[in-house]
Amino acid sequence: MGTVVEVTVAHQSEETARTAMGAAFDEIERIDLLLSGHRSQSLVSKINNEGALRPVPVGPELYPLFVAARGYGRESDGAFDVTVGVVSRIWKFEPGGVVPDPAEAARALAKVGYDGLLLDDSAQSVGFARDGMAIDLGAIAKGWAVDRAIDRLKSLGIESAIIDAGGDLRLIGTRPGKRSWRIGIQHPREQGSLIASLDLADTAVVTSGDYERFFVADGVRYHHILDPATGRPASGCRSVTVIAPTAMEADACATAAFVLGPQRGIAFLRARPGVRGMIVDAAGALHWTDAALEREAHR
Ligand code: AMP
Ligand code: MG
Repeated sequence: MGTVVEVTVAHQSEETARTAMGAAFDEIERIDLLLSGHRSQSLVSKINNEGALRPVPVGPELYPLFVAARGYGRESDGAFDVTVGVVSRIWKFEPGGVVPDPAEAARALAKVGYDGLLLDDSAQSVGFARDGMAIDLGAIAKGWAVDRAIDRLKSLGIESAIIDAGGDLRLIGTRPGKRSWRIGIQHPREQGSLIASLDLADTAVVTSGDYERFFVADGVRYHHILDPATGRPASGCRSVTVIAPTAMEADACATAAFVLGPQRGIAFLRARPGVRGMIVDAAGALHWTDAALEREAHR
């Protein structure tokens, strides 16, 4: 998944903690093999290679993830769209990156649209309505993987843990002897410093930011969160932090709200049960879903 995963487990028995951490890493590895767009053997690569020719059965474990992805597309008016795959492929968001040729970008953008994702509930298969489409689960797969690894920890009796997949976090319980875990939120413009900290327990917290993968050309920052309406990096936010019951929900909502921009993004988050969050807009101003969260945050 192109990121560093950190697992923290507290337990009386070091052996139990170590075994549980191993199981969590194995689970993340297993999901990475399935969902990575960079591995030629992955299920996602199979869908991208064959999905326009014939539906690809994905099985009962993964089918709900695709249904959820389409749901986020609908509920965000297409701000979240896993069919951005063809567009994300033509950008390289790393130092030295270049803006794609406009004709190539227009051809890629024509392949985007979650309505073209064909999901068959009885066959539990995924396909494409049009030739040349591709999915990219980068905005949701990390969260989903973290949830599955959290399930593994819980099934092994762990009652206090954090899994952090590069800013996609989920917590079990609290820090031992405390009432919460204290979670720092990265400042989008000051590397290594925090814009806020939150005291949280038994929840997920995910940040999407324009500082994670980007390049600068002619003074413009080009980053990896794309507006599916334009095929270019979304310009309304610097970062979006979402707190939600699952890491998948928090991951998808953070990306969706980022693309929607500060006003529509906050409205989108507020409308979802159990979801709270904070947006740093393009000018650096903070927006909160609720005053209570703003009061709870340590600045
Ligand atoms: P995140 O870091 O969770 O916000 O996800 C960003 C990643 O998701 C990018 O690196 C792309 O792989 C993919 N992506 C970019 N823009 C979108 C979008 N509008 N909807 C869904 N996935 C996206
Ligand atoms: Mg996301």
